[in-house]
Amino acid sequence: MRIHAIETGVVSIKTRQRQGVGSTGRRLNTLLDNMWTEWLPIYCWVVEHPEGIIVIDTGETARTCSPSYFPRWHPYFRFGVRMRVEPEQEVGPQMKKLGLSINDVRWTIMTHLHTDHSGGISYFPRSEFLVSRQEYKSSVGLKGKLRGYLSDHFPNWFEPRIIDYTSGEYGIFRTGYTVTEAADVLVIPTPGHTLGHQSVIIRDGEITYLFAGDTSYTEQLMIDRNIDGVSPSSRLAQDTLARIHEFICTEPTVYLPSHDPLSKQRLVQKIPTTIFKL
Ligand SMILES: [Zn+2]
Repeated sequence: MRIHAIETGVVSIKTRQRQGVGSTGRRLNTLLDNMWTEWLPIYCWVVEHPEGIIVIDTGETARTCSPSYFPRWHPYFRFGVRMRVEPEQEVGPQMKKLGLSINDVRWTIMTHLHTDHSGGISYFPRSEFLVSRQEYKSSVGLKGKLRGYLSDHFPNWFEPRIIDYTSGEYGIFRTGYTVTEAADVLVIPTPGHTLGHQSVIIRDGEITYLFAGDTSYTEQLMIDRNIDGVSPSSRLAQDTLARIHEFICTEPTVYLPSHDPLSKQRLVQKIPTTIFKL
């Protein structure tokens, strides 16, 4: 299996979004923070699997640079996030450069539907999109807009397969959805950053990869079990990190969050996370 890390531009958020502060009012704390993170990568992943190409998340679109792309009334887009994406950084052109045809993509697995993960959906009309039931529900309608989903920008053909995690399990993850016939690609629920957030486990020979979306912004934050400042449920986010922590302790795993500047290096060098237990 060849797996490619594709950086579809960069994003900067508030430091208190990366690592939440306070036991209540964490979202407000995030918004009022005046410290920005350095520019962080927006990764998506392309897997050359024997059963077809699998794309995990679709990255961001260069259209974010046009002033009308984000709703100006929404405080998060106005005060909480900055993006830099060039057209040639979008997932489509980058796949072409790698010699991969977007028409050969069989599955597109969405960890969640936030803009920096769903900006490239329009490149894959022929693929089967896999989205959790809860995530799809959270993203649509007025409530979805208030939550910060840009569902107006989803293509009108976008009708994902809704995942309920009834066809697989892996270690501590007792429910999941098996994607491939070889049962080496599995989607598991990892709620927290969003209620319907999911991650992808891929077994390639002796190596296990965990494509973690935004369960944490870096590997270190997962190791330290520090959750972000925007999760709608701190309890779910904590539970998810605890579970990932335990998973990684029982099975050497290359942990790959979407915005960790070191994710690509860990993927290329196949470096599993080491957790020292006291
Ligand atoms: Zn993200």
